[in-house]
Amino acid sequence: MKKPELLAPAGDLNRCRTAIRYGADAVYIGGQNYSLRSRASNFSMEDIRQACIFAKDHGARIHVTVNMIPHNDDYEGLKEYLCALQDMGVTAVICASVSIMQLVKEAAPRLEVHCSTQMSVTNAYAAQFLYDRLHIDRVVLARECTMTEIEKLIMECPVETEAFIHGGMCANYSGRCTLSNRMTLRDANRGGCAQSCRWQYHLCDADGPVNEAMFTMGSKDLLAAEWIPNMMKAGVSSLKIEGRMKSEYYVASIVSAYRHLIDELSASNACISEERMRYHMQKIMCGENREVCPGFYDGIPNENSIIYHPNSDADVNHDFLATVLSYENGVAVIQTRNPIDRGQKAEALCPNHGDRVFTIESMQNESGEYLEAVRVPMTILHIPVPFAVEPNDIIRRSRTICE
Ligand code: SF4
Repeated sequence: MKKPELLAPAGDLNRCRTAIRYGADAVYIGGQNYSLRSRASNFSMEDIRQACIFAKDHGARIHVTVNMIPHNDDYEGLKEYLCALQDMGVTAVICASVSIMQLVKEAAPRLEVHCSTQMSVTNAYAAQFLYDRLHIDRVVLARECTMTEIEKLIMECPVETEAFIHGGMCANYSGRCTLSNRMTLRDANRGGCAQSCRWQYHLCDADGPVNEAMFTMGSKDLLAAEWIPNMMKAGVSSLKIEGRMKSEYYVASIVSAYRHLIDELSASNACISEERMRYHMQKIMCGENREVCPGFYDGIPNENSIIYHPNSDADVNHDFLATVLSYENGVAVIQTRNPIDRGQKAEALCPNHGDRVFTIESMQNESGEYLEAVRVPMTILHIPVPFAVEPNDIIRRSRTICE
């Protein structure tokens, strides 16, 4: 059984490095043009070059999204852009337009072409067509595929497959929706989705409001950890985490949790106990998750997959406290992100380690003053940590650990 790639999102160079440090085999990013998620603090050309260098040094790969629905004007400069990506060492581009796929093959043939989930490939016929006619290297499966459909597609078509395992779901067919366009003039298929389906609405019928409570119609997020053994057995090549808009903490915690799960599954022929799977799912839920569901893998989702009530952070169980800047002689220099108090328990989330809990015994600011509490984000503090940590490691706090 081939070990699948763990593919992580990154909205900027810092998050890209974080994803790779925490175990991503590949990272997908967006340039400043031609990409969906135009608000996801996209990468400059120099950032892409730096990402490729960092990835190469760590044995990882960079995929670049070129997945907007293009209009005529969007083709200006595209060929030169693709050639530049190829020269920088980008492994693959993710495309949602057949003409762009063809252009990549002609102008930058060393780039792999991955067919975006925006193409909504849900069957072997479509995959085979794209493979035969456009010579695509991989198809990113529609989130709307069931596991049975994926197994059948892989048996019938030799193209590599990539499947989502975690993150946001669209309440429509992966962005084939104009809610956002209508309500905000922001085009979901040109990178501007305002996630209008997650807003709060009054539910009315012909006689007026149906009830007092506000109503949303956004989907719960995907958590498909329990389906990964089936995906590995079926031969899915890449397991993808959604979220180029997500925080550094989300990237680190989710990538780290899936890294450990995939490694354990790979070492055990995709066979682990229910108890171990529960353990890994708890680790996954330490990220800043919304409510979750298994998506379409088990069949068409029912009403339990929709968040009808107003959004809340009730399921968030950890807070991102700080990033480590340096460590020497038992003292870490950290930069805070959220309120932090002396005496509270904290966890160090480090690549290649399980979580390690310690108590923040003291906090000194840059002037050497001892502090009891810090409320200002980005404050630099010196705190004793009883084990070695490294720059860019993450310090977090469990809301369930008693202090
Ligand atoms: S508004 Fe909601 S349903 Fe529409 S594209 Fe955006 S996420 Fe999907």
